[in-house]
Amino acid sequence: MKLRIKDITPEGTELEFEHGEDFLEKFSPQPGGFWFRLAEPVHGSLSTTRTGLDITISGRIAGRVFLTCRRCLEEFPSEFSRDFYLDLLPEIEIRDRSGDIQLKKEELEQGYYQDDYLDLDQILLEQIVLSITENPLCREDCPGLCPICGANRNLRECQCSQAGLSAHPFAVLKKYKV
Ligand SMILES: [Zn+2]
Ligand SMILES: [Zn+2]
Repeated sequence: MKLRIKDITPEGTELEFEHGEDFLEKFSPQPGGFWFRLAEPVHGSLSTTRTGLDITISGRIAGRVFLTCRRCLEEFPSEFSRDFYLDLLPEIEIRDRSGDIQLKKEELEQGYYQDDYLDLDQILLEQIVLSITENPLCREDCPGLCPICGANRNLRECQCSQAGLSAHPFAVLKKYKV
């Protein structure tokens, strides 16, 4: 959804949203292009106000996703929520005030908008991505996969650790009886 800058008033525009996988797919080059998938639509609300050229956006998003544990590679459900507040200025303003745009941006930690429209979908996507960890663990002490036999050590204990990691890598084959 895009808002015309001119239409944003000091009183603000309130909007509620609910977005499913199709919303994410618009931004992803291929299906499943993100490191999570939605267990339910992302929902929330946001309010956009403008005073002169200065736009502020505040909102809240929440949802449930499926993440893949980086140690045991199992998928698990996870909830997230995030409150956010953004202050945006038109890029052209900064260019007029200062020759050194890059430095200015870093100093201010300021967001910017370009042109006559504000792309709320892009802003929401950024907030969704920021709320979801890129290093998921199904639990803090997940023991992960056995590096020797590949067993998920959450599910069963293998004998490899007793044999020691220095054991011949093919030692495991002895276990298979033909
Ligand atoms: Zn895990
Ligand atoms: Zn093992």
